Amino acid sequence: MGKVRPLPPELVSKIAAGEVIERPASVVKELMENSLDAGAGRIRVELIAGGKRSVRVIDDGEGMAPEDAELAIRRHATSKISSEEDLQRIVTLGFRGEALAAMASVSRLSLVSRAEGCPAVRIYVEGGELKECAEVGAPRGTQVEVRDLFFNLPARRKFLKGSSIELGHCLEAVVRMALAYPQVAFSALHEGRRLMELPPVKEERDRVAAVLGRELHPHLTEVEGSEGGYSIRGWITLPPYARGNTRGIYLYVNDRYVRDKLLQRVLGEVYGGLLPRGTYPVAVLKLYLPPEEVDVNIHPTKMEVKFKDPQRVYELLRGALERALAPKTWSVSKAPAPSPPELREASIPYASTMPVAPRVEEPRFRPLGQIGGTYILVEGEGGLLIVDQHAAHERVLYERLCTEEVHSQRLLLPQVVELSEGEIEALLEGREVLGRCGFEIETFGPRTLAVKAIPTLIRAHEVKQVLQALAGELEEATEDGLERARKLLACRGAIKANTPLGEEDMRRLLCELEATSHPRTCPHGRPTIIEITFEELAKRFKRE
Ligand code: ADP
Ligand code: MG
Repeated sequence: MGKVRPLPPELVSKIAAGEVIERPASVVKELMENSLDAGAGRIRVELIAGGKRSVRVIDDGEGMAPEDAELAIRRHATSKISSEEDLQRIVTLGFRGEALAAMASVSRLSLVSRAEGCPAVRIYVEGGELKECAEVGAPRGTQVEVRDLFFNLPARRKFLKGSSIELGHCLEAVVRMALAYPQVAFSALHEGRRLMELPPVKEERDRVAAVLGRELHPHLTEVEGSEGGYSIRGWITLPPYARGNTRGIYLYVNDRYVRDKLLQRVLGEVYGGLLPRGTYPVAVLKLYLPPEEVDVNIHPTKMEVKFKDPQRVYELLRGALERALAPKTWSVSKAPAPSPPELREASIPYASTMPVAPRVEEPRFRPLGQIGGTYILVEGEGGLLIVDQHAAHERVLYERLCTEEVHSQRLLLPQVVELSEGEIEALLEGREVLGRCGFEIETFGPRTLAVKAIPTLIRAHEVKQVLQALAGELEEATEDGLERARKLLACRGAIKANTPLGEEDMRRLLCELEATSHPRTCPHGRPTIIEITFEELAKRFKRE
């Protein structure tokens, strides 16, 4: 007798179940998907022991006729597609006809459902075996309970984590759905305790704030774009708002939550330099494209998708995000400006680092003054703006350094600086980067460098200090040495705190700041401007 034998069907189902159902959160996800496909307006998720003991999902969707319900728990039974062509254009969340069967084979599953004009039915399946099928009384809609997940697969059950961790995953599954379907009400209960209650909302933004944090509301900005049948919509937070992890990032393709490297990359690119390293925005982005342009059938849990034209997706995303992040206005005063002040010679050290800016004929800014020798107060359209002069100037210098037309200053006599061997090595290796920043250096002796030209941002007496700092940056950096060097030079060259400024200096700095591409953050991602709105003032003075 040969060795190869077909597996018994129960074993096949158990193996298949492993692909779709990993933990209670997978149950939550699959059941909610079914509810949404059934047109539910209200979905309630009830959990016990983080879902390990029980996951129950109740919906008010279209329900199932008794004969459909009986079929639904079989493998490869679905109402959603019927032909290969359908598979090319999936418009429902489910389509594999596997989830109910998979869950039923590894748990104690009960299903109660009633469709319009039909009697309600109750089905009970234990470890894949149909135990009961009976008529009962029930409201329209469906409720499915999955108890004791993996009770018949002890090895899998052992891999489940503690209740609180599994609960966290279950709630995250609800969050992902709730963000995609703001018009649907969601609630989640754990052992009778209400953990989430999300009424339906018209404005997507309200759902984002309700789910991810009310404090986000004022920081959210809309993302929008479309291009020949593809479109993108969503919300992102503007710098300086940031989180220490990527957990606030949600991408959807045709309302299906997906994990996608492309999105991560585009976000990194557009936020690069706007947020401090290791911090991330909150972003809820929904991409819509014709169903035949995306393959959702490449992953058992449908978490990954394949785009027919990734380049097009990339460009659409990138364009939309860039537009959303581009400063619209930073709402400086439009009030009639006071008569131009007397022309005064700038008396501050940093003036020399700024090429003579054209005098502003009709000043748009009205600096009210400076406080603490550090912050400039400005009257804005929407309230009071407080500008950090160092951060603001850093942004200006940084962008100037990025324009490639570096302002370099040749020294009359080369300056000889003594440095460690390591520093010299790093600097010589990064000579190209330094050149692009306005430095010209040459080896001079074993532990000395000759500096022939320096960027105008740098004062001659600090050359050594700056080179040492640059050596440190270059040593650490593998690829973005130039970027780091620019940030460092911008910081070194920028006007320091505790430097009194005249009115003309302030005005010029503000003008230059506004002309930058991202006036609201310094190159390290710190804010340059803080705004206190009139509403906030009114509230604090209790005028309302
Ligand atoms: P799929 O969702 O891929 O079709 P499932 O095993 O999840 O496969 O569900 C099988 C079928 O059962 C669905 O196609 C649908 O017709 C029916 N069904 C499942 N859950 C519900 C529900 N909550 N409301 C109405 N019908 C449902
Ligand atoms: Mg399904």
